Amino acid sequence: MAATEFQQTVGKVAGFTGTALHTGEKVTLRLHPAPVDHGIKFKRKDLQDEPTIDAKIENLKTVERATTIGEGSVRVHTVEHVLAALSAMGVDNAIVEMDANEPPIGDGSAQPYIDLIKKAGVTAQEEPRKFFDVREPMHVESKTGALLVLLPDDKFRISCTQAGPNNQFTQFLSLEVTPSIFELEIAPARTFVYYEDVESLMDKNLIKGGSLENAIVVRGETVLSKEPLRFSDEFVRHKILDIIGDLALVGRRIRGHVVAVKPGHAVNAELARALAREQTRRSAMSAPRAIPIGDSGLDTGEVMKILPHRYPFLMVDRVIGFEGENKITAIKSITINEPFFQGHFPGHPVMPGVMQVEAMAQVASILLFKLTKTSSRVGYFMSADEVKFRKPVFPGDTIFIHSELTRARGNRMAKTKCYCVVNDAVVSEGELMFTFLDK
Ligand SMILES: [Zn+2]
Repeated sequence: MAATEFQQTVGKVAGFTGTALHTGEKVTLRLHPAPVDHGIKFKRKDLQDEPTIDAKIENLKTVERATTIGEGSVRVHTVEHVLAALSAMGVDNAIVEMDANEPPIGDGSAQPYIDLIKKAGVTAQEEPRKFFDVREPMHVESKTGALLVLLPDDKFRISCTQAGPNNQFTQFLSLEVTPSIFELEIAPARTFVYYEDVESLMDKNLIKGGSLENAIVVRGETVLSKEPLRFSDEFVRHKILDIIGDLALVGRRIRGHVVAVKPGHAVNAELARALAREQTRRSAMSAPRAIPIGDSGLDTGEVMKILPHRYPFLMVDRVIGFEGENKITAIKSITINEPFFQGHFPGHPVMPGVMQVEAMAQVASILLFKLTKTSSRVGYFMSADEVKFRKPVFPGDTIFIHSELTRARGNRMAKTKCYCVVNDAVVSEGELMFTFLDK
C-alpha cells in the first residue's frame, strides 16, 4: 500500500497583476491558504459580499474556448490554467481571490501560476488526501471526434494525441503528471488558437486582452507568435495542461491513465462529470448498511425532536451519520403504505419527485440545525435549483439521502447539494437553498 499522502495548501498569501483575456482589463489574483477539505474556491473580491465559487464540476457553466464556473449569477471565466497549476503542484486547498471575473492570462501558459505558487510555498496539512482510483475503463467521446479514455493506473498519467484541422500539427505525448514534470514539460506550453476562429471573436470584440503575447495563432501552415515555439510539440503539451485543469474540477486526485485524442474543454468536462457521478455512486455504496444509532446517527425519536414534520409528511426514518460539519446521510424506506401511492398512480405506484425534494429538504434542515446549534433560529426552505429526477422510486426501495452544505452566508442563508440514492444509483438530485429566521 502506498504511503499516506497529506493534503496541502499554500504557505502564505501571494499575488500578481495582469490582463484579463476577455475584458482586457487589469486584474489582481491572490492565492490564500485554506483549511483541510476546503478544496479550491474562487473569490470575487470586486463584488458585494465577495461571493465564492467552488471549483467543482457541479458549478461548470460553459466550455466554449475556456472553462467557466459559476454559482447563482456569479461567474468566473478561464479557470483551467490556474486550476491545472494548483492541481499539478499539489495544492489541494486554497482560495483564489480575484478582483475581476477572470484570472490574468499571462503569456497564455500556466507559467505565471507556477511562479505564484512557488512564491506562496506549499505546505502539508493534517488530513490525508482524497483520491479517485480508476477501477475499470471509462470513456467519453464527442461528435467532433474527441475521445477520452480513462484506464486504471497507480499514477496520474496522460497520453494525448492532438491534431489540427486536416490533421495538421499532429502531435503525441505521454507522461506522468508530477509537480516537477508539470513545471518543466507542461506549464510553459501556451494557448494556441486558429486564425479563422479568432478572426470572428476579434470582430465581436470578445477577446480584448488577446494578442500574440498571450497566444500562438495558427494560420494554415504558419505559426504566428511573438516568441518562437517553446517546444516543437507545444500544442499537445497545452492540451495536456487543459486536461489537468478541467479534471481538477473533480475535486479529488486521480489515480488513472487518461488517453486523449483531440481533446477539448467540452469532452474534458464530460469526463470530469462522469468521474463525479461515479464518486457519488461509490460514496453511497460505502455508506454503512448496518444502521448505527447514538453518537454517529439519529434515530426516529431524535429526528422528530428536530423536525416538526409528522406522518405522513415526515420523510426521514433515521440519520445514518454525519461526515464532518458539512455532510449528512439519512435513510427513508418507502413502503406501499405511503399515502401518496394511492393516487400516484393507481395500479402503477411511483414515488412523486416532489416528495423526494421534500425528503432532501428535511435532511438538509437537520444538517443546518446541527450547524446553527441553536433552536431559536429555524431554517426555511427557500428554493430548489437544478433539480433532476433520474430514475423512478418504487415501493420497497430504501432511499439514501445525502446532503452537503456547499455555501453559507453568515447566519442568513445556506445552500446544500442533495442526492437521493437507491441501489447505488442517483435517483434524484437538487440544490436547495435555505434562509434562517428567528422562531
Ligand atoms: Zn488552455
